[in-house]
Amino acid sequence: MNAHMLFVADVHLCESRPAATARFFSFLAQAAQQASALYILGDLFEAWVGDDDLESPLHRAVAQHLSDLTSHGVQVFFMHGNRDFMLAQHYAALCGMQLLADPVVIDVFGTATLLTHGDMLCTDDTDYQRFRRVSRHPLMLKILRALPLSLRHTLAGRARIGSEQAKAHKTNAIMDVNQHAVTEMFRQYGVSRMIHGHTHRPALHIHDVTGKDMNEKKCERWVLPDWYGDRGGYIVCDINGCRPLT
Ligand code: MN
Repeated sequence: MNAHMLFVADVHLCESRPAATARFFSFLAQAAQQASALYILGDLFEAWVGDDDLESPLHRAVAQHLSDLTSHGVQVFFMHGNRDFMLAQHYAALCGMQLLADPVVIDVFGTATLLTHGDMLCTDDTDYQRFRRVSRHPLMLKILRALPLSLRHTLAGRARIGSEQAKAHKTNAIMDVNQHAVTEMFRQYGVSRMIHGHTHRPALHIHDVTGKDMNEKKCERWVLPDWYGDRGGYIVCDINGCRPLT
């Protein structure tokens, strides 16, 4: 295959799901090695409480596999998800990956493509958006990072249970992207292609977007799959466009 880039999100790696970890590692050792770049669009880990959490064999193994990949000349980029937004420069450097802002627009073989984790688009979930603003505030991050590691683990565990309970009371529509937020994102950045994860609803959506300087434009929104259960997959983009692969 000619030059191509890969996009993946929502791998949700954790110690208790070794089969998914193995599938992801074989993806890194095989398909990913053929690419020019790998973009990880958030929620690589089920939870991340700080870059000092390196006793975990999983965290060490992931760093090893990713740095092996970069040593093969594949550029690796990482964007935060809602589970691993505390991942910082120290661990990124161990992996050899570059941190990306959310959202970011990159050039994908001539097509400006917006990358985002996707949680920002779920504007109907106002409780979550409030939590997101508070938890990502630089001061909050500073406070969290100053807490003992074991306490951070306890808090993360509680937050996860809280989020599961909250989700049980939310409709599917609330937890999906808001159509208006999507078209606004296309308009604001003037792009005709977007790739994101987070919703765990892999699909290609075509949006009709009208902007001030444009006639109606057909915009592509690619949603990445998660790697729960025996699922998994990624998107490959080359000069001819994008397609999903498992
Ligand atoms: Mn997510």
